[in-house]
Amino acid sequence: MITKILVPTDGSETAGKSVKYAIGLAKQMGSTITLLAVVDDRFFMAQSIPNEATSTRLIEPVGDYLRQAAEAYLEKASKQCEKGGIQSKKVIRHGHPAEEIVKEAEKSKADLIIMGSHGRTALQAALLGSVTFGVIHKDTKIPVLVVRK
Ligand code: ATP
Ligand code: MN
Repeated sequence: MITKILVPTDGSETAGKSVKYAIGLAKQMGSTITLLAVVDDRFFMAQSIPNEATSTRLIEPVGDYLRQAAEAYLEKASKQCEKGGIQSKKVIRHGHPAEEIVKEAEKSKADLIIMGSHGRTALQAALLGSVTFGVIHKDTKIPVLVVRK
């Protein structure tokens, strides 16, 4: 039985395909969906901005912007679930995407993770995005279904 499906999304086209795929499967299995967005605030922390008085002033709006963007695409995905008659929950986490995805999957006792082969940032040529690669290689028993771009 697949009772709970975790769908991590970065708002990309391929992640959108995963949401649709998950809804289709949830309809057949009677599952609920958790929609997860991880705000990856590592890249503009530490490395890119010098550690001076201006840093918080610069960092906070970027963090807010990323969070708002995540809220917007989670809301869109949640509406799609509702239309499909599937019960869903939205979750936002901050941190390292692959780590947070597996942590949330374990915590919410998901039976399956459905995510895209690619996201927003990769070269088209890459075989697999680094977030999906990371999730597949983490130490967990939860299976992963990769939706192709
Ligand atoms: P890369 O990030 O390695 O440059 P990419 O953006 O093409 O490449 P990934 O980031 O691995 O590829 O994206 C693959 C899938 O992982 C997406 O379709 C989505 O399901 C999930 N994903 C990626 N980033 C996040 C995130 N920040 N929060 C939740 N899910 C994510
Ligand atoms: Mn990415």
